[in-house]
Amino acid sequence: MRMQRLGHHIDGHPVTPASGGWLPVFDPATAQPHAEVAAGDAADIAAAVDAAGRAFPAWSALPADARARWLERLADALEARLEAFARAEATDAGKPLALSREAEIPRAIANLRFFAHAATQFSSESHHGQAGLHYTLRAPLGVVGAIAPWNLPLYLLTWKIAPALAAGNTVVAKPSEVAPMTAWMLGELAVEIGFPRGVLNLVHGRGGEAGEALVRHPDVRALTFTGSTAVGQRIAGLAAERLLKVSLELGGKNPTLIFADSDWRAQIDTLLRSAFQNSGQICLCGSRILIERGIYDDVRDALVAGAQALHVGAPLEAGVRIGPLASQAQFDKVRAALDQARAEGGRVLCGGAALDRPGWYVPPTLIDGLGPDCATNRVEIFGPVATLQPFDDDAHALALANASDYGLVATVWTRDLLRAHRLAAGLRAGMVWINAWMLRDLRTPFGGVGRSGLGREGGLEAMRFFTEPKTIGIAL
Ligand code: NAD
Repeated sequence: MRMQRLGHHIDGHPVTPASGGWLPVFDPATAQPHAEVAAGDAADIAAAVDAAGRAFPAWSALPADARARWLERLADALEARLEAFARAEATDAGKPLALSREAEIPRAIANLRFFAHAATQFSSESHHGQAGLHYTLRAPLGVVGAIAPWNLPLYLLTWKIAPALAAGNTVVAKPSEVAPMTAWMLGELAVEIGFPRGVLNLVHGRGGEAGEALVRHPDVRALTFTGSTAVGQRIAGLAAERLLKVSLELGGKNPTLIFADSDWRAQIDTLLRSAFQNSGQICLCGSRILIERGIYDDVRDALVAGAQALHVGAPLEAGVRIGPLASQAQFDKVRAALDQARAEGGRVLCGGAALDRPGWYVPPTLIDGLGPDCATNRVEIFGPVATLQPFDDDAHALALANASDYGLVATVWTRDLLRAHRLAAGLRAGMVWINAWMLRDLRTPFGGVGRSGLGREGGLEAMRFFTEPKTIGIAL
């Protein structure tokens, strides 16, 4: 039997790749191919950008509430198929079914609904009282590009396409070739509900081919990218050549600061989730756990015991907390990082080696004995691996936390309000969570500093990114 083939969706139709080439898509639980995805290239991107360009005048001319209704219809259709999407994503990306069913697919639905509302609530500024009256028009840009990673496949894809569409743009999106299944299913849904042709186009394929062709296409007016810092830098370079507007959400090496006065015993499960959810393959996971020296041994022992108790298993198995890594490349990268941690003198407290079974399984791993300057504490691993370091006081905690070229999110656990606010102001990060992890309000600016990216997404930030302001001044 031939494997399922995931083609493009261009101009409202399923389309096979111009090149005729297909790429294998693997099931991380078995390391065997379970589908094939279109090997898109510049020809497919050109067809999609053309279709999006033709669709732009009508889509952008729709009243905002009509665009909102289309996004709601897509959300309704997705909600009606939640279970099928959750299972597909669990199989395709190796994530525990409960995670995709209870968190990630619901979040994809929420993204579509949130930006449907944003379409009707978005407004522009006016300025009066200094020099005449000024008001600002915010027009959609035209055809925009979106490139998404494999770790939260549908969640991050919808996080990009929903605001772009809500603001009146038409979209060409390039999902990750590693886990393209639910993006393809979304394309099928769009066709099924009669989503206006050419408004949402999905072109699959390798980053260096389809992805780069999208970045280079002269008719693409803006590009939103989530992925690795290395690829973000490459895209920034290409974008600079033609002054393409880009938003880059990149890697992280996030610190988790645990103080002696915190409620850490009651929060052990959250602390474990913050390090290991989705096998640590979330840009927001805390991979550097900093612990006040007086409680270091107790917290370390509780984390180790908790990590050892996390049920590692196949994504569709009941009660699984930790699934396999998403790809052979990710598996190799994490194992190399473990070798490096040992070579640097790290002490592996639990986990530390791949499981002897088919599939790309690495159990939750905690390492201590490494200082802030070693590669293990500097380079993003993006796996179920976290280090522990002790600190003496607030200043030491802050110095360790900020000893990173990344700056996406930092998490602070303390009951001392003043300390929490002082640290929040001093931490080098785009976001700080206090006594919580993954505390998301979709209205807030989302993004990082340094090697974690450029620009912010979320709420009005996204609506502003996807529109061009024009200021009009009238002498009064
Ligand atoms: P990646 O950079 O390898 O790939 C991301 C996407 O870019 C894929 O669709 C890929 O095909 C495409 N791509 C690759 N090379 C390209 C090129 N030359 N031109 C255009 N597109 C190209 O990242 P990944 O491995 O899929 O994802 C993991 C990374 O994403 C981690 O570094 C993680 O921290 C980061 N991430 C960041 C956030 C955030 O919000 N900051 C969220 C999730 C993941």
